[in-house]
Amino acid sequence: MRVVILGPPGAGKGTCAKIIGEIYGIPVITTGDMLRAAVVEMTPLGLTAKSYMDRGELVPDDLVNRLVTERLNEPDAQDGFILDGYPRSPRQAEALERILKTSGKKLNHVLHIELEDEAIIGRLSRRRSCPRCGAIFHLDNKPPRTSGKCDACDTELVQRDDDKPEVIRRRLEVYREKTRPLLDFYEKKGLIKVIRGDINLTDLPATLKRVLNSRVRTRSH
Ligand code: AMP
Repeated sequence: MRVVILGPPGAGKGTCAKIIGEIYGIPVITTGDMLRAAVVEMTPLGLTAKSYMDRGELVPDDLVNRLVTERLNEPDAQDGFILDGYPRSPRQAEALERILKTSGKKLNHVLHIELEDEAIIGRLSRRRSCPRCGAIFHLDNKPPRTSGKCDACDTELVQRDDDKPEVIRRRLEVYREKTRPLLDFYEKKGLIKVIRGDINLTDLPATLKRVLNSRVRTRSH
């Protein structure tokens, strides 16, 4: 099972990726998390990536392509994977085609998560994350048990710099300019499945299973 998840920032890609990963027992590869880890570790990649990430711009294709190529070559990704946040530009989609072709593999699904800007801004501006384990909370919909602390590891929660309103706006523009065109690319290959980003968490696993098992392009509503 090889799945790409596409959708605007804040649509719920990470949540869906995690559930699909659990259902099918395959690794979730999240470029945003990999880049944030590189920033924290201050690797050469992290130092370069940070300036782009802070502005809501895409990290240059070559750097991200290299990162993903290495990750996809690891043993746990040989029987399937979920790509969350990659590809994000036509050059990344081409790179992914090349990587898969080299190993004689193909994507099974491209899951498009739809959500309107208004809902996204409400979601991201109230989002808090754990800088240590990556757990995500929402001040209204999924507050931590102890205010300001991660449920899993008790670390002080933070608001990501790029979840601030001016950067969110730029991330949405970048999504429309660079990533949305990939929907056409994958539509032509007959790979797109559609799901709404505001399905409640309880219904999400069953909906994802249904959508990924359906043969035709599916709308969840
Ligand atoms: P995310 O957590 O997926 O919203 O990603 C946060 C930021 O990481 C993005 O705004 C980009 O700056 C960077 N990033 C993540 N994935 C990619 C990618 N595939 N290509 C370029 N930049 C990326």
